[in-house]
Amino acid sequence: MRNRFVLLACPLLISVSLALTAQAPPVQTLVKASRLLDPRTGNVLAPAAVLIEDDKIKEVGPPSKVQAPPGAKIIDLGEATLLPGLIDSHTHLLVDPVVPAEAERSRRYNGDFVPGLLLAIVESPSKRVLMGAQLAREDLESGITTVRNLGHSGIDGDTELRDAIKAGRVPGPRILASGRKLITRGSYIQSLNPALADAILQQEFLLIDGADRAREAVRLNEFQNVDVIKVTADENLTVPELAAVVEEAHRDHLKVAVHAVEKTSIQTAIDAGADSIEHGNQVTDEQLKQMRDKGIVFDFTPTFYGDFFTRLTEATVLMSPARRERWAKLDVSDSQTYDILVQRVLKSGVKFAAGSDMGWYFPGKTRGQTSVSRFPVLHQAGMPSLDVIRAITTNAAEMLGWQDRIGAIEPGKFADLVAVAGDPVADITELERVRFVMKNGQVVRNDFATH
Ligand SMILES: [Zn+2]
Repeated sequence: MRNRFVLLACPLLISVSLALTAQAPPVQTLVKASRLLDPRTGNVLAPAAVLIEDDKIKEVGPPSKVQAPPGAKIIDLGEATLLPGLIDSHTHLLVDPVVPAEAERSRRYNGDFVPGLLLAIVESPSKRVLMGAQLAREDLESGITTVRNLGHSGIDGDTELRDAIKAGRVPGPRILASGRKLITRGSYIQSLNPALADAILQQEFLLIDGADRAREAVRLNEFQNVDVIKVTADENLTVPELAAVVEEAHRDHLKVAVHAVEKTSIQTAIDAGADSIEHGNQVTDEQLKQMRDKGIVFDFTPTFYGDFFTRLTEATVLMSPARRERWAKLDVSDSQTYDILVQRVLKSGVKFAAGSDMGWYFPGKTRGQTSVSRFPVLHQAGMPSLDVIRAITTNAAEMLGWQDRIGAIEPGKFADLVAVAGDPVADITELERVRFVMKNGQVVRNDFATH
């Protein structure tokens, strides 16, 4: 049926599209700013002009060389610094649970699950994806023009949101969607109602007990048109199971992102040939060396660095003085441990990127504000500012396999630009105050505009 329609419709479509092409000249925009930072080299072009044609960058250079063609729209950002649109390479746009109250936390935790995550699965998927649309818009407004959404989206929530954004139905960043997360049985939720357990789990996860089921899980996600495969590795996951996932995914040119925190699961990910290791908190120096040699990317997720979790909890629930004191101590010691991790990863020469791993509801803040706040903390942990910017632009684009499309302000790439008022290398917290956002050549936000 489909072929017959295409055959019948073809001559008509060709003539219509030729007529449209002939009538619609490209939309040209010239963006000017005092400075443009190239994260790859660290060079600053001052002053700078970027000529955009439709959704792509056509030319970049000093305003004396790159000028507006007749009819082009000019956006002058004055003293601002331009940089590529930010890439959050690890996020969860379709969940926003609140931190459980203290008593509930100790009594109602389910495996690794806070009650809000379980509720997200059993509530209406329509409600969930509409919330995802809101969080996606908020990320974009804060300068995140691309995200890699790694699970907790129901069966097709993230792929549908991606397509709705692509079609212009709702505003949001480009999304690389993973669909359902691949897990071994028992690794996330436990003690569900046995009569309903499988049905509930299948709304959110694909179980990969055994290599055959692992291959089948990849194919089920491929059927939903995912862009990346996400696996959670725990000590139950074997190398043959994960290797089957990797082989099947690579056959379809999909990369495999593996959540691995402990030494054992990190080794499983390395041995099975994962493309990136997410979190990686307990990685050893020997493992970093293996990752470097195999070209596996280390994806930092400094989500809870500093006092983030304490502030988040204080904003939603009451805490006893005892818990407050205990957590304040943990804030300090966990951050010190993270400082050491950052230094070891930088020293190892392994490729790295960064993601917010954001999935929490933070009252009074948009999702974008919360997500972006997690990047400057890498500088607090000892990462040079330029490396922080690389981790969420050029390096991230390479990890996603999209280095030909995004991550830099260069001719041929999508016109995804952000601008800040100051110098982000001198003050990395400028990233939290993005005042101009353009995605696909379309202005999303311009606080520099004078009316
Ligand atoms: Zn995550």
